[in-house]
Amino acid sequence: MKNFMPNSLSELYSDLANLTPASKVIGGGTDLVMHLNAGRVEPDALLYLENIEETRTIKMDGDTLVIGAGVTMNEMVNSELLKGKFQSIIDAAGDVGSEQIRNSGTIGGNIANASPAGDLIPIMFMMDAVLVIASSEGALKKVAIKDFIVGPGKTTLGHNEVIIAVRLAVPKSDKYISRFVKLGSRKKVTISRICVSMGLEIEDEVIKSASVYVGSISILPIKLEDAEKIMIGKKIDHELKMAVAKVLSDKIMEVTPEKFDRDYKVWASKGVIADVLECFQ
Ligand SMILES: Cc1cc2nc3c(=O)[nH]c(=O)nc-3n(C[C@H](O)[C@H](O)[C@H](O)COP(=O)(O)OP(=O)(O)OC[C@H]3O[C@@H](n4cnc5c(N)ncnc54)[C@H](O)[C@@H]3O)c2cc1C
Repeated sequence: MKNFMPNSLSELYSDLANLTPASKVIGGGTDLVMHLNAGRVEPDALLYLENIEETRTIKMDGDTLVIGAGVTMNEMVNSELLKGKFQSIIDAAGDVGSEQIRNSGTIGGNIANASPAGDLIPIMFMMDAVLVIASSEGALKKVAIKDFIVGPGKTTLGHNEVIIAVRLAVPKSDKYISRFVKLGSRKKVTISRICVSMGLEIEDEVIKSASVYVGSISILPIKLEDAEKIMIGKKIDHELKMAVAKVLSDKIMEVTPEKFDRDYKVWASKGVIADVLECFQ
């Protein structure tokens, strides 16, 4: 098996040209190494991105936050740039797996996995993330997250392409905060069974704008449009929590087959919504 470890974008472009459909890019390896060890994948080559500066940093580019694909969960948890408007990413990254997984698992791997239970994915949908992708043609292109993930474990990424970074437009309002809450099946090292990503603009306790995405209840994150509408002009109180929870439980009834724990998820939706809305109080 060949190993490629490019030190720059130009070295990366030429290494990408040598990859085949059997080759694999490796981020933190938290998922891939398990599959390698179990013999479920037998790549002809591994491409490591860790020496490429652009994949390793979190920075501002004008009004856009840019997170390198190789930034780990714990690096996001500890980033000052994410506090407040991107607090949802801190919430989600801080709740991924165990300390070991958070030290190695990357945002690029989480997105490329395209798992319906991937915690960062509903946030990426809510924030209209744009992925910066390098290809063997020697250029960077931008692809919206909604055009990138096409099914469970399926993306539009070619075998000689990699994610370099994620671009997130910074919400303009200084009254905006985003939060994320997940309900798991076990206390620790849990894979998400319902997760909610919410971005609210609140002025004098009144919600001025709202965006809500739910993950893990379907193949792709779902926008809870009815909940967004209900919230505008309201204060966060018990009545609002119940109304939003009803929207979520109705959506779960609509989209989740019974065999995927539908009844449990309907029952649990009240708690998840109460928890996420309490984060804003
Ligand atoms: C015990 C355990 C608990 C977990 N808990 C959670 C959890 O709570 N929430 C959650 O969301 N996930 C969880 N995961 C899944 C996984 O750890 C995360 O999705 C993690 O973010 C994957 O990142 P990675 O860098 O380790 O990916 P890797 O294992 O390195 O790669 C995963 C896939 O992505 C591809 N890939 C990686 N980087 C790139 C890139 N830059 N460009 C293109 N393709 C790329 C790889 O080729 C591979 O197919 C858990 C996994 C384990 C083993």
